[in-house]
Amino acid sequence: MALPEIPVEEMVEFLVQLLRIPSPTGDTEAALDYVETRFGELPLEREYPHKGGRLFIWPGAEDLPRALTAHADTLGAMVRRIKENGRLQLTSIGGFDWHSLETEGCTVVTGDGRAYRGSILPTKASVHIYGDEARNLKRTADNYEVRLDARTLTEDETRALGIQEGDFVYVDPRVEVNEGFIRSRHLDDKAGVAAIYGALLALHRAGLRPTKRLHVLISAFEEVGHGAAAGFPEDIVELVAVDMAAAGGSQHADEFSVGICAKDSGGPYHLGLRRRLEALAREHDIPYRVDIYPHYGSDGEAAWYAGADFKVALIGPGVDASHSYERTHTDSLVATAQLIAAYLLSE
Ligand SMILES: [Zn+2]
Repeated sequence: MALPEIPVEEMVEFLVQLLRIPSPTGDTEAALDYVETRFGELPLEREYPHKGGRLFIWPGAEDLPRALTAHADTLGAMVRRIKENGRLQLTSIGGFDWHSLETEGCTVVTGDGRAYRGSILPTKASVHIYGDEARNLKRTADNYEVRLDARTLTEDETRALGIQEGDFVYVDPRVEVNEGFIRSRHLDDKAGVAAIYGALLALHRAGLRPTKRLHVLISAFEEVGHGAAAGFPEDIVELVAVDMAAAGGSQHADEFSVGICAKDSGGPYHLGLRRRLEALAREHDIPYRVDIYPHYGSDGEAAWYAGADFKVALIGPGVDASHSYERTHTDSLVATAQLIAAYLLSE
């Protein structure tokens, strides 16, 4: 059976809009509302997990129901301390290295909804002032601070702005689409959410439906390790987690194919399900790359660790410079959406 056409432009436009909505783990409702609105075009039932996230259900054949998951939460930061100089010390949300945020623009949002712009800088940023001390500064949380675009030089002045410990700090994604490349922070895993959207939309527009009842969990706590630990009914037999493939360096994964993960930090994924996905990719001429991700965990494993008794596989678009200033290519998004569509249409 031929695969339905993936609506590429709509999928990329969906992704660009999603990238522009901040959604650090713990503060994801705006992004989830957006996803829910856009998924509204599809014939899906929806449920609202208490902990956050969205669950969409495409009713269908009741034998051997399946699930997909991707996460809408991203890396981010939170105010840890207001410093004597009025600047903000941060605590990280998710696993990134501080150098990846150096000199980036950001927005601090207060409890009463006020928003302040600023930038994330090393505490010794100026070479004119600090010379080699600036050049050799260690990349630890203590050595970074937010310089607010507000007239404050003291802790009291910053508190008067309404800023408190625990306020979220949104890091600018800097989204840009060039020559098929999509360059932005947080492609992990908004690109995965977009690939699922593209696949479901393709099926729906072609008058097709998944061969089995399908549950789609858009999770909200993946970056801290427990996103998909809850949310699936007991009778699910297979979960395909859709999350970025680690591309670049010595990796086999790249930005132009769908990555199929054989093993990551949590060990091997389900071999039988992986082989079926590889076979589907070959059958439909979908470019794919099987690879190992050495420093990586997924929501599929979160479900396993939580006790889920289903097969788990991991596929996703190849992302270069992951958890830094990321990049993928439209070809990779399309390949991922195609493999999802092929899987949903398979027996
Ligand atoms: Zn991810």
